Order: sequence, then C-alpha cells, then structure tokens
Amino acid sequence: TSMARYIFVTGGVVSSLGKGLSSASLAYLLQSRGYKVRIRKLDPYLNVDPGTMSPFQHGEVFVTDDGAETDLDLGHYERFSGISAKKSDNITTGKIYNDVLKRERQGKYLGKTVQVIPHITNRIKEFIKHDVSKEDFVICEIGGTVGDIESLPFLEAIRQFSNESGKKNTLFIHLTLVPYMKASDEIKTKPTQHSVKELRSIGIQPNIIICRSERSIPLDQRKKISLFCNVSIDDVIQTVDVKTIYEAPISFNKEKLDERVLKHFKIKSKKKVNLQPWKKITNLVLNTKNSVNIAIIGKYVELKDAYKSLDEALTHGGIANNLKVNLERIESDHLKPNEIKNKLNKVSGILIPGGFGKRGTEGKIAAIHYARKNNIPFLGICFGMQMAVIEFARNKLNIKNATSSEFGLSKASVVGLMSEWLKDGKLMKGTNKDLGGTMRLGSYEAKLIKNSLISKIYKSTKIKERHRHRYEVNINFKENFEKKGMIFSGISPDNKLPEIVELKNHPWFIGVQFHPEFKSRPLAPHPLFSSFIKAAKINSNK
Ligand code: GLN
Repeated sequence: TSMARYIFVTGGVVSSLGKGLSSASLAYLLQSRGYKVRIRKLDPYLNVDPGTMSPFQHGEVFVTDDGAETDLDLGHYERFSGISAKKSDNITTGKIYNDVLKRERQGKYLGKTVQVIPHITNRIKEFIKHDVSKEDFVICEIGGTVGDIESLPFLEAIRQFSNESGKKNTLFIHLTLVPYMKASDEIKTKPTQHSVKELRSIGIQPNIIICRSERSIPLDQRKKISLFCNVSIDDVIQTVDVKTIYEAPISFNKEKLDERVLKHFKIKSKKKVNLQPWKKITNLVLNTKNSVNIAIIGKYVELKDAYKSLDEALTHGGIANNLKVNLERIESDHLKPNEIKNKLNKVSGILIPGGFGKRGTEGKIAAIHYARKNNIPFLGICFGMQMAVIEFARNKLNIKNATSSEFGLSKASVVGLMSEWLKDGKLMKGTNKDLGGTMRLGSYEAKLIKNSLISKIYKSTKIKERHRHRYEVNINFKENFEKKGMIFSGISPDNKLPEIVELKNHPWFIGVQFHPEFKSRPLAPHPLFSSFIKAAKINSNK
C-alpha cells in the first residue's frame, strides 16, 4: 500500500494571488494524469467555521454535501476537480482550539500544560492525515500570507509533518507576487526573495515557487529567484494573468507545474493529461458572440465574491447554451418599486439569490412581482424562493401582510421557523440559541411532481441538493397556493417541507429552497441554470 503524498501550498507577499485556483488546477492536472486527489483548506482565522461571517467579510459561504459551511475556495476545488468536498476538508484555528480546549476540560491531557507546540500543532497534523485512505495526493492550502501571526501554528505543523512523514512524501509550493514596475519597466523579484526568506526562517524550504505576474518573467529574473530562493530554475513557475479562470489548468500545464510535481515525487504520469475540455470552454467563453442579460438582485452585490458559486453557475448555464451571460448586479435596498421597470427592462431573466434579514426584501418582492406579471424567467434561490412565496401570498391569496417569521413574530407567516425535520430517518432539532452550524445544512433529498417543469429540467423525480437555511415555506398553505396557480412541485420525502415552487401559467418561474449553484461545474453545468439561461434567451428574442 502506498501512502498519500502531501502537497502544501502557501502564499506570500500579498493575499488574493489565486492560491485556491492554483491548488484546484493542480488537482485537476494530477487527476487527469490518473491519480486520486483530495484538496483541503487550512484557515488561520479564529471563527470555528465561516458560517457566521458576513459575505462582505469573507465572500460566499460554501456548503458541502455533508453539511459543512466552508471557505469559498472549496467551491473552486469542486468545480475544477469534480470531487465533492467534505466536512473534513476545511479547518480553522477556531475549530482546532475549540477541540483542544474541549479535551483539556475533559482532562484528556493528564495534567500537562497545554501548549501551541505540541498540542495545537499535533491536532493540526491529525487533521491533515484524517479521513485519507486511497488518495495518491492530498493538496493542503494554507490560508493567509506567510508572516501573519495567525498562520504560524499551521506552518509549524506542516514543517513537522514533512519532517515526520519523510521529505520525499511531501512537497512545498509557495505562491508569490512578482510585480512589474512601470516607471522603471522592470520585473521585481525582491518581494519573492523576502517572502521565501521568511518561510525558510521557520524551517520550510519551498520546492516549487509559483510566481504570479502580469507579464512573462524573463530568464534573468527567474535565475535570480532560483539563486536567492534556493530552488532549481525549472521549479520557478510563472503564472501570468489569464483571461478566464478556465484557462488556468492549461496555463499551469504549459508551465510544467504538474510535471515538476511528479518529478519531485519521482513518479510517472499514468495517463496523458487531457486539456481538451478546458480548451473548449475557454474558447467558448472568450469568443461567444451571443449573450443574455440576467439581473441578480441581492444585498451583497457590491462584493464580487459574495455570490461566487452563483456567478459561476450562471456562466456554466451560458456555456451549456453557447452564450455569454452578462450579470447585472442590483442592490435590493436601492430598488424602489417605481423604478423596477426602468431598472429591469433590459434584462431577460431575474434571479434572487439566498439572503438573510429584512433589509432589502421589499425591493426583491417588487422585482418578483414584475417577473411574474411580465412573464420574465425567474429563479428564486432559498431566500429568493421564500420571497416569491410571500409575493404570491400577498397578491394572489390576498394575505396582505404575508411575511416570514425571520422578520419578527406575525400571524401571517407563510414562511416560518421549522424547529424539527427529518434527516435520514432521524429527527433533527433546530435551535435558535447558537447561530453557528444550526441551520438545515447539506444535502437533502426532494421528490419532484411528475410532469412538472422542474422534473423535466432534472429529467428525474428524485433529486439531492444542498441546503443552508433556517426557515421553511409553511406546508399548510399548499392547497391555497396551488388553487391559485403556484404549485409545490418538489417536496421533502416526509411531505413536510416544500422544496420547490413553480407557476403554472408562466413560461419559467421557479423557486428552490436549496442552493443548486453549489453543484454546478464548468465541465458539467447544472440543469437548472442551463434551463434558466435558455428560457432567458428565448425571452430576449421575443
Ligand atoms: N434567511 C433564510 C433562512 O434562513 C434563507 C437563507 C438562505 O437564503 N440561504 O431560511
């Protein structure tokens, strides 16, 4: 039996260099060469998970099948590698400390002084090895930037890990910025030298340095990096800005990243790497002439990463239809009912994404009303579905004050807090005490009504999708809604929780209680998004 090989990816100089995308691309390449790969993220912040963080702080919260609320980089990993991430693939300093302190209270450390080294670092190492069986490679990305106080225990842990499991079983990749100075027309290697120096001072010698640069790095500068950072010149790998992220695997392969990784471990490729799918979609994304305009109406539209998976899924829907998707992001709080028509008359489809809290809801409801009345394709996701139900209740069922109990107690809550539900036959109790990790989270099954639009889209009557919400549409209103033309076309297996609503007399109007965007992939666009984009295109031709 062969042990998994570990690849640690750290970043230096500045954040947002694309560590996640680099790790994800490498995962794809190794996989395509015939190896089994796993990717993990180690985040140095103190939150136990990003579940309670505002999207403004940290971008989207990504949800796994097994119900973990994770860093959005796990979304990149899934989309590029096609492997579904698990709870055990994301840890934070908060989770590690939480664990260690719990054990300390239980007396598990037998009277010892509990310290960062060895107790915290041991726990980190346990996590790195945990739940790995048949993988050939485990890629571990360390969040943050070398030199941060927070990342120290993680760096110390991976140093120890490499020492203990043998240098030949581990590989360190360091990603840095190689800036171009316009004034002197020069490419600068000094920040990289400093960052590697910092890393070496804690005992980690990178094996490969990935240099992010806006232009190609000349041989002289590569030599300099090689010399000062103590790596072979072939292990100085440049990554020049790409026009679309789908080009990243192609570009890393061209720069021989995967080849150098295999060389380090002294193993051969099992298969010829297949870049065809990425070439195809890169070409499509860059050259498609036709396009469709979609409005996303939400509260976090100012921050690009807040709807990362959603933006991606819509692009995938475009890929499936050979269309470019232009996103019009509209801040719901600024959407006054009398401006709806003006602001929305150029879009062919309207999407309301997930969300929390009352702010901006009236704008969303007005936009839904507009989509329903004017036969504009509409997709409501999670909160978006709940708002669609409220809109319908107010205007078609004549429940004028229809609302959600998320906004305060009311007798007219068509959306309400569900305190109990079934998962795999077990009764789960929701709670209002802690906000972290207490929602209905992860993959749940839904039954779809035969001949409904949704079952035609999925080509199935049984689906599984990922959830992240606390409130549910109240099933007791089912008949009233259906009489007026909004049918509950998807429902939980116990018939208690409405999962999907759709309108009978509308070309394409769907609300889903789950988040389909988490399962869409560039090489396998999600059918719901493909169908939504197609409907929007048909609408635009009218
Ligand atoms: N705030 C709503 C709930 O908790 C919707 C959540 C979401 O859109 N993800 O049910």
